Amino acid sequence: MPHGFDGAVLRALGAKEHALTVRGTTRLAPHFARVHFDAPTLFQQATDSPAAWIRLWIEDPLTGVEFQRAYTISAADVPEARIDVDFLLHEPAGPASAWASSASAGDRVIAQSLGSTSFAPAPDASGLILIGDAAAVPAINSILRSLDPQREVRVLLERSHDEDELIPLTPHPGAEVRWIPRDGSSSLARAAAEMLSPGMQVWAVGETGSLKALRPVVKERAPGNRKSVHIQAYWIEGRAMGRERRV
Ligand SMILES: Cc1cc2nc3c(=O)[nH]c(=O)nc-3n(C[C@H](O)[C@H](O)[C@H](O)COP(=O)(O)OP(=O)(O)OC[C@H]3O[C@@H](n4cnc5c(N)ncnc54)[C@H](O)[C@@H]3O)c2cc1C
Repeated sequence: MPHGFDGAVLRALGAKEHALTVRGTTRLAPHFARVHFDAPTLFQQATDSPAAWIRLWIEDPLTGVEFQRAYTISAADVPEARIDVDFLLHEPAGPASAWASSASAGDRVIAQSLGSTSFAPAPDASGLILIGDAAAVPAINSILRSLDPQREVRVLLERSHDEDELIPLTPHPGAEVRWIPRDGSSSLARAAAEMLSPGMQVWAVGETGSLKALRPVVKERAPGNRKSVHIQAYWIEGRAMGRERRV
């Protein structure tokens, strides 16, 4: 079995893996890069829905190890079979952020869309709050794009660096956006406590420890069911997040 990308392409024939080829990149903020991909087969499985995400397999060419990391489909052009994925270039870097910081036209990665979730408005909710951080901006942007302009929405974002606020947000006439500095794992929950109210739909993603602190606050101030409360870990402070495999 061939190794590397060619081996992965062969596996893709039976394993629902999709080859993505970089068309180019755009630096949207000092530490935030948009990678434009050709994705000729992805939409046989993936959907273009708010906050939909894919699993990317990033290969270390020196060791042949592939690292699985989840990323949001930031924008999709289904007829042209193209997607954009926005990468936070965090420090310390990991395989995915390091790859994105030097990606160039012609580079290739493997994607899978299995298990993806997406955002849907809860019809009976009295309000909506989107909670996250820089890594959540692509998902929050796609949700904001999908919302009725009349709709009011609160957006609570935690910044680890001042530059996080330079990451472009989708403008929405009904959005009230608040950035707060990250100060350990309880800062997000503290800020959220002031913005939550009963009956509100809560969509929250971010660092695992911050979400652990947030959960009881949501349960107390905006309790709901699976349709109205979505809390999902996006990354872990001090640890890699995702599986590995040897090609
Ligand atoms: C459903 C889903 C969708 C996601 N969408 C996006 C997206 O569109 N854009 C995006 O940038 N990220 C997104 N993420 C988060 C991304 O998958 C993680 O940040 C991932 O850990 C990055 O992989 P890595 O190889 O760069 O770093 P890893 O190897 O996982 O980690 C290496 C080091 O970097 C640190 N680190 C990892 N992520 C961050 C971070 N966000 N901020 C600060 N330090 C970090 C870790 O703590 C560790 O110390 C998403 C995650 C999920 C689950």
